[in-house]
Amino acid sequence: MSGFPSFAYHNARFCVESVPLDRIAEEFGTPCYVYSRAALTAAYQEFDSAFAGRDHLVCYAVKANSNLAILNLFARLGSGFDIVSGGELQRVLSAGGDPQKIVFSGVGKRPDEMRAALNAGILCFNVESEAELITLNQIAAEIGKIAPVSLRVNPDVDAKTHPYISTGLKENKFGIPFDEAEKLYLSIQQFPNVHATGLDCHIGSQLTELDPFIEACGKILDLLNRLEAQGLQIEHLDLGGGLGIRYSTEKPPSARDYIAALCGGIGRRSQRILIEPGRALVGNAGLLLTRVEYLKHTPYRDFAIVDAAMNDLIRPALYDAYHEILPVIANGNDVKTYQIVGPVCETGDFLGHDRKLALSQGDLLAVMSAGAYGMSMSSNYNTRPRAAEVMVDGDNIHLIRERESVEQLIAAERILP
Ligand SMILES: *Cc1c(COP(=O)(O)O)cnc(C)c1O
Repeated sequence: MSGFPSFAYHNARFCVESVPLDRIAEEFGTPCYVYSRAALTAAYQEFDSAFAGRDHLVCYAVKANSNLAILNLFARLGSGFDIVSGGELQRVLSAGGDPQKIVFSGVGKRPDEMRAALNAGILCFNVESEAELITLNQIAAEIGKIAPVSLRVNPDVDAKTHPYISTGLKENKFGIPFDEAEKLYLSIQQFPNVHATGLDCHIGSQLTELDPFIEACGKILDLLNRLEAQGLQIEHLDLGGGLGIRYSTEKPPSARDYIAALCGGIGRRSQRILIEPGRALVGNAGLLLTRVEYLKHTPYRDFAIVDAAMNDLIRPALYDAYHEILPVIANGNDVKTYQIVGPVCETGDFLGHDRKLALSQGDLLAVMSAGAYGMSMSSNYNTRPRAAEVMVDGDNIHLIRERESVEQLIAAERILP
């Protein structure tokens, strides 16, 4: 199932650490995201310890789940952060993250976002185009700073993942074409307020094989050799994120094997290694708790209409993604093949197809592996307030985000005079 011991049945009640999920539903309502502190900690430590003695920095990719409690937990463990917006910068700083451990990725950084990151004193900007480099140099000059940069190069490798989350192919919008990267690096010397400190790539998400990572590593190393031959000094190699997790039958490499492969690929180089894992740190450390509102039996299908929907968890609708769905109280009688659907007015609003479950109205279900790209991609479609989030720590339950209210949703809107 999850690969973490933090989620298990005790006396036929599904628990997160020592807390039964039905207790959480009673106290905080549904839909509700539930995370395990122990699972988050174990996932981070698996990555961090796999580097053994090697100089490294794990930069958690904030977009996977940007709740302040989760950012704060990782910051306390020593994590760095990979951000993709000024909003995420503000979140990391509010959560107590160290600016010197922040890298800023993304193809469309705005001048105000660059200014904020320069003022905060972040570790590095991962620059994705020449135009961005020109703007960054200009902004840094205006405020009298030198911007540390990596170029994000696009190594043109096939990540063999869903096309929407594949980013390292030459036809993708991401990164600087591999063949142009050397020239652009050499041109950085003409920009007085930019200093090249690193080299970066990120080829996609939910990768379940090591080969694409190894291929990208090889290309990065080629480029590093050429840059060093021209006299450039590169201090760190940022190898991106993208390690997949097990949702159903996938068999992704362990963090340990993944990092061993990266370190092996880099060999005896002195550079510090950065990685930017998102999904692999949080995906299997969280679930979405939902309640069956109605059962509806038609001549063609059996539907379980639940109180979570595509606005809460869009991955099934967007990527046809699979999430395991488990009963909170295991009861076993009258198993049917259910379509697990939400209340939103779209046929794409489903959480799972053809699930064999024994259900009654009012039952609780756990939608597994929902810690990554769940809450962070949620919306208010259908004017549905976003779910509450709680973190379990042993036998304690902490509310880490209150359920939204409709009043909050409409507060910023104005009718005409
Ligand atoms: C999304 C993203 C990541 C994290 O990807 P995961 O698959 O969640 O590990 C890392 N780096 C960059 C630049 C990203 O855009």
